[in-house]
Amino acid sequence: MIQIHDLSKSFQELEVLKNINLQVYAGEVVSILGPSGSGKSTLLRCLNGLEEMTSGRIELAGHVIDSGQSKKEQAKAIRQIRLQTGMVFQQFNLYPHKTVLENVTEALLVVRKWPKAKAVEKAETLLDRVGLLQKKDVYPSRLSGGQQQRVAIARALAAEPAVMLFDEPTSALDPELVGEVLAVIKELANEGMTMVIVTHEMEFAEEVSDRVVFMADGIIVEQDSPKEFFNNPKTERAQKFLKKFG
Ligand code: ADP
Ligand code: MG
Repeated sequence: MIQIHDLSKSFQELEVLKNINLQVYAGEVVSILGPSGSGKSTLLRCLNGLEEMTSGRIELAGHVIDSGQSKKEQAKAIRQIRLQTGMVFQQFNLYPHKTVLENVTEALLVVRKWPKAKAVEKAETLLDRVGLLQKKDVYPSRLSGGQQQRVAIARALAAEPAVMLFDEPTSALDPELVGEVLAVIKELANEGMTMVIVTHEMEFAEEVSDRVVFMADGIIVEQDSPKEFFNNPKTERAQKFLKKFG
């Protein structure tokens, strides 16, 4: 579903991603772990074209972004890839002046040009799935952080993406609200959604992932099954990192 080939990304002099190679198979759940500043967010942002790569090639759901393409070809590929990816950030980024339902239907109406009835039906199905149908007519400010993030997940799912990308989806939440968001993500995993999840929730990563990718300083230091990675990390970097989480 995703193939990253020799991806590099610099911000001026700072090389943030160094020759990343990574494959994610259809239906696979891959967690990306690593210390702050290691390039995890930049990697996700390159994956859906929010950040322009410096060099390399990304293939996602059959669409290719290549640093050798013309700007025009690249822009076209990024548009295609955006349609195939749902992204959920640490900050929920809901539209404050739109209701929960309107937040979920927005992209369906504006980007996909769905008829209103169809968009509403889809949104209601998704809100039901994340347990928030009864909140469809309220504004985001009336919801807890956990509820807002579940709406953000419903919104990202609305366009039926081939891949879901999560960037620390629970890091901004009070501890007692983390579980309800992880439960929704876990359910998606069980349904076979292809997902890349940046997280600091180690137990969750161990439980939900098919594979764990450990990054530090812009490179993939090791990747393994969660069982192997958590019980028997191969590199000193990973051992040191895991110690911090007890
Ligand atoms: P992580 O998500 O693993 O914490 P990031 O991908 O956010 O790491 O950042 C990796 C490095 O890139 C950091 O040193 C960060 O300061 C730098 N960085 C991220 N975004 C930008 C930007 N827009 N401009 C300059 N430097 C950036
Ligand atoms: Mg980050």
